Amino acid sequence: MAKQGNIHISSENMMPIIKKWLYSDKDIFLREIVANAVDAITKFKKLADLGEAKADEGEYCVKVSVDKDSGTLTVEDNGIGMTEDEVEKYITQIAFSGAADFLEKYEKAGGEGIIGHFGLGFYSAYMVSENIEIFTKSYREDAAGVHWESDGESTYTIEECDKADRGTRIVMHIAKEEKEFLEEGTIRGLLEKYCAFMPYPIYLNFAGKDDKPVNDTQPLYLKAPKDCTEEEYKDFYRKTFHDYHDPLFWIHLNMDYPFRLRGILYFPKVKSKVELERGKVKLYCNQVFIADNIKEVIPEYLLLLNGVIDCPDIPLNVSRSFLQNDRQVQKISKHITKKVSDKLTGLYKTDREKFESCWNDISVFIKLGCIKDEDFYSRVKDCILFKDIDGKYSTLAEFIGGEKAEDKAETAEGEQAGQKEEKSEETPKEPTTVYYVSDEVGQAQYISMFRAAGLNAIVCDTLVDPHFLSYLEYKETGKYRFLRIDADVDAALKAGESNADEDKALVDAFKAALNNTTIAVKAEKFKSAEIPAIVNVSEMSRRFGEMNAFYGLAGADADRDMTLVINTANPVLQAFTGLDDEKKKFVANQVYYLAMLSYKKLSPEEMKAFTANSVSMLEGYIR
Ligand code: ADP
Repeated sequence: MAKQGNIHISSENMMPIIKKWLYSDKDIFLREIVANAVDAITKFKKLADLGEAKADEGEYCVKVSVDKDSGTLTVEDNGIGMTEDEVEKYITQIAFSGAADFLEKYEKAGGEGIIGHFGLGFYSAYMVSENIEIFTKSYREDAAGVHWESDGESTYTIEECDKADRGTRIVMHIAKEEKEFLEEGTIRGLLEKYCAFMPYPIYLNFAGKDDKPVNDTQPLYLKAPKDCTEEEYKDFYRKTFHDYHDPLFWIHLNMDYPFRLRGILYFPKVKSKVELERGKVKLYCNQVFIADNIKEVIPEYLLLLNGVIDCPDIPLNVSRSFLQNDRQVQKISKHITKKVSDKLTGLYKTDREKFESCWNDISVFIKLGCIKDEDFYSRVKDCILFKDIDGKYSTLAEFIGGEKAEDKAETAEGEQAGQKEEKSEETPKEPTTVYYVSDEVGQAQYISMFRAAGLNAIVCDTLVDPHFLSYLEYKETGKYRFLRIDADVDAALKAGESNADEDKALVDAFKAALNNTTIAVKAEKFKSAEIPAIVNVSEMSRRFGEMNAFYGLAGADADRDMTLVINTANPVLQAFTGLDDEKKKFVANQVYYLAMLSYKKLSPEEMKAFTANSVSMLEGYIR
């Protein structure tokens, strides 16, 4: 006769409540059951090592099987097993009180989710099962087989049974609404996700000796870095992240003190410039998968990387908000940040060529890291690179140094160098202006003018660049001023001063002929005669407009501060005042359209007028 017992929990309604709360994360039940099986093997092996139990000849392993006919999912191990007393104690009492614990913690956490759902263990299988049976036999000599069964509601039965081998078999009778857990594909997916690195082989529907376990019992990250080959790192990456592109480089984390931390972080190749691609950082605890991308443990920008981190010291049965403020977790997070920045600065110093070749792929990550984490910024700031308009990479210091050298040469020619230095000692240092390009194609006109004038600019065309440049100006107050290449006609673009009166007359005549009456017009003599006019938009108002656009606010139109700068070195403008009114109108508007066109800011009506003008010019040309 089977013995009957009552399950000691205060509320009989606990099951439905837990089912509901855990609903979104139901999958974890398999991890819990398999992790228990793995633990049971570890315990047995320890006893065998100590000589307290007789070791096995065969393989220690976990066998998972699904049987659609009987509607069961079974997890079997050849671990330590349990006696009848142990089943009553560990399963009935502790497992169920673990569930009560869970409820309490869950409530304390404000219902926002317990990170690893640890401590719920065995009970979580009731999320998908209407009934569970345990067949188990302890390692102890003369131990009898035990059969336990419960629907998880309020009662259970326990009796002796025949079981030949040591170990535990958990038979889950899957509930009608959870039939997907009887699909081999589903179970394989769950095992690959949650149990990929568990330390004993796990077989699914074991058929024979040649079967391969679904897991990797010796994941590379556990090996000492000095014993890992490049091929192994790449192989592990491909298998774990299903990315066909090789990673750029990686960081192997390996420490025991003051906390245990193992893992590998990979810098992936970036596939798109406009979208921030989220990587995957998988968090493990003793080779058991906990979750992806836990931003409470890993700084958010690091989530752009791919990696595995195994940290047994993270307190997992607490709420996420608690994790965020946990000192230990903060230390871990800091350590990871330090390792990442060490790797970057190390690569920069020892292999600049490789660093440069990776820069396009890692720059968004680094810039975002700087913005989000001052600590990270101060560590890596000296190895932040910028590509210039000739495709050369340099740090800001190098870039400015290069510019300065040119400046100096010019000064030496033009005026007495000594005088200038004296001046700069007295007056507070002006921030160095650095010009940047945000769109190499759209700003090609400006770039070619810069080139012709022997000037250089950096290319800042990623999503984070506008924020990053503002951040740099703020962090390095008074050091740099970033101006987009079309923000202002730089002194160096101008070929000396022109005649102010003549300029004014030209501007007045030009404005009078222009259809657009609101745009500001200014005359300058450029070094290059090639282009009749360009558009300038003040840096401040453009940034303001961009910011408003970013936040969806009004005032996103940044064109209010637009200036049309006409080039008095250009023959068309030189002839302008001598033209009749009709021609002035034609020329002024066409010059305006051309300048606007390269700024991509023509209205539909303007575009139409521009086309009509151009066609009539063609007609004049063939005549
Ligand atoms: P936890 O694993 O968090 O302690 P569980 O509810 O998952 O909580 O399990 C309760 C206890 O039941 C375990 O600590 C273990 O002693 C025992 N147990 C569970 N599964 C097995 C198993 N497969 N083999 C042996 N003992 C087990």
